[in-house]
Amino acid sequence: MAAENSSGNGRDDLFRRIDDRRDEVADLTAALIRIPTINPPGDAYEPCARFLGERLAARGFTVEYLRAEGAVGDSDRYPRLNMVARIEGDGAGPCVHFNSHIDVVEPGEGWTVDPFAGDVGEGRVYGRGACDMKGGLAASVIAVESILDQGIKFPGAIEISGTVDEESGGYAGVAWLAERGYFSPPRVDHVIIPEPLYKDAVCLGHRGVWWSEVEVRGRIAHGSMPFLGVSAIRGMGAFLAKIEDELYPRLAQRRTRMPVIPDQARQSTLNFNSLHGGSPEQGDEGGFPSALVADRCRLVLDRRYLLEEAEDDVRQEVVDLLDALKVEQPEFDYALRDLWSVPPTLTEPDAPVVQALDRAIETVLGTPARHVASPGTYDQKHVARVGHLHDCVAYGPGILELAHQPDEYIEIDDMVASAKIMAAAALNLLNRSPS
Ligand SMILES: [Zn+2]
Repeated sequence: MAAENSSGNGRDDLFRRIDDRRDEVADLTAALIRIPTINPPGDAYEPCARFLGERLAARGFTVEYLRAEGAVGDSDRYPRLNMVARIEGDGAGPCVHFNSHIDVVEPGEGWTVDPFAGDVGEGRVYGRGACDMKGGLAASVIAVESILDQGIKFPGAIEISGTVDEESGGYAGVAWLAERGYFSPPRVDHVIIPEPLYKDAVCLGHRGVWWSEVEVRGRIAHGSMPFLGVSAIRGMGAFLAKIEDELYPRLAQRRTRMPVIPDQARQSTLNFNSLHGGSPEQGDEGGFPSALVADRCRLVLDRRYLLEEAEDDVRQEVVDLLDALKVEQPEFDYALRDLWSVPPTLTEPDAPVVQALDRAIETVLGTPARHVASPGTYDQKHVARVGHLHDCVAYGPGILELAHQPDEYIEIDDMVASAKIMAAAALNLLNRSPS
């Protein structure tokens, strides 16, 4: 390979070039933060996609802008515009693709800096999306530009994409592109997603998700004579008690071989996203709810499951609890509605992209790479399930816990180190002999 064939020298020159671009990686991150791509609703996707695309086009990339027309959320007001840039190397070879989502979650409360100013200080860039994941995107751009500036020859091609809607499921972003062949061979062979999962760790995949809504059905009556009705809220209370007593202890026992971080997520988990029963809430000013026995109570469950679990079983164990209640309480009635699900995804540690990143991490940081898995899902699911491409991982700078928090930031040193690792891994993948 060019960088390593010319022994350590070519690589050292490349790394020096990336070091020299320290200010530039910070400036690029700040510039991306200043485009407030808040999702929902999907603000400013077009200026962000074009900002990236114009930069890469000026560097010789062929740039496509792909609007996910007809996808969920797409409208003339909020066009779901994706950007895919590709640069060909010399001759036939594989393609390494860096995929970043350009959307960010709303800033929320508690900031001490302007979330969209892109402030730089104390070796950090601050702002919404700094860590998740405009810093990772900037690092990948600097990595690839540095390979080109260095004049390193490589076979195959390199792609960089900026895609939309990851924070809302990625259906108008990576999933939409994957349905059109953008994440499948022969176009693409290896995918690195620079999500913030620490500069020394390769993220192999994520747990599965099963969301559902449980509606407990009662019978309405006057609130002064509750014995004439059946309270859906009391029924829900009984269901929640069963979950506490029976399901939570079981879930806590189920550990996975997936290296999920943080450690408390290395098991099955269940969250209650929302709970509502009885007449609609009137808000603080709206007065009291009516004097009625609640005939409906709804709970939205967020169950995260493991490679070792099957979705049917995950669902069935909730159904079993509900059916047991029906036996214990003849008036208990319910409906269960599946809302959304994603199976777990795990790339094996011997996959080429993992090996290439492992080597690069060891070279740049001097420590062995850690392998982790994400507690929540990200766009890897679409690459694997829709694109049927399994040589895909997340690797990028940043601290996972800072994602979606106030005063989110990214360390500039981490971006520089990650850019070197991405560049070295890409060259390794491009130059490996086909298996
Ligand atoms: Zn993200």
